Amino acid sequence: MKPIYSGKAKTIYEYDEDKVLIEFRDDITAGNGAKKDVKKGKGYLNALISSELFKILEESGVKTHFIKYIEPNKILAKKVEIIPIEVIVRNIAAGSLCKRYPFKEGQELKEPIVQFDYKNDEYGDPMINEDIAVNLDLATREELKEMREIALKVNDILKKYFDKKGIILVDFKIEIGRCKDGLVVADEISPDTMRLWDKETRDILDKDVFRKDLGDVIAKYKIVAGRLGIIKKEDNYV
Ligand code: 5GP
Repeated sequence: MKPIYSGKAKTIYEYDEDKVLIEFRDDITAGNGAKKDVKKGKGYLNALISSELFKILEESGVKTHFIKYIEPNKILAKKVEIIPIEVIVRNIAAGSLCKRYPFKEGQELKEPIVQFDYKNDEYGDPMINEDIAVNLDLATREELKEMREIALKVNDILKKYFDKKGIILVDFKIEIGRCKDGLVVADEISPDTMRLWDKETRDILDKDVFRKDLGDVIAKYKIVAGRLGIIKKEDNYV
């Protein structure tokens, strides 16, 4: 199969006219590719965790591109046209929110913040508003409204789900695509794209471990998969 796109951590192959195969590689990057490494087992863990979260969303009535998990590090998904907007939802202040505004790291937000970033490496993924998105022809007003609704629904579902597993969903980023079924959640939902903290200890269980050099990032992703009950004791992919 020929790759149709290769990004920083995933390669997309055309499977047939309306499906793609997404390969999660072991590459890990931060700061728009400024920091790079390869971590064995990362592709497997992110494909596995993403698959589980897509299943949870589907079961709760959110449409996604997910079709099935293919062991160890691939998913079969519907072919979509990705809208180049990163939809970020925040429950607790962290990361760029604290760099740009006077929020304290770890501060609980009064209500979730939905933020749109323009997915564009050349411009450093700048935050945009609806008027900018419409004028750049990224999406229509109706789509932007629906994207906000989808993001808040995903937040509601995943926040409750992680809470039951002893994990705080601090924030996350999703990408949304257009397909025959309308707008669907696409790309990945993994510890690469979420901030996850242990509920008791506030231990960091996501890519910030790599971004900030806090230790063994794979060990943390394994904790997440373990809490979700999806990692097999006998597996040797990590
Ligand atoms: P922040 O804006 O604080 O850097 O990120 C907010 C949330 O969105 C974090 O969970 C972060 O992982 C995710 N996020 C934002 N932009 C990106 C991106 O370009 N790539 C990835 N993997 N995650 C992102």
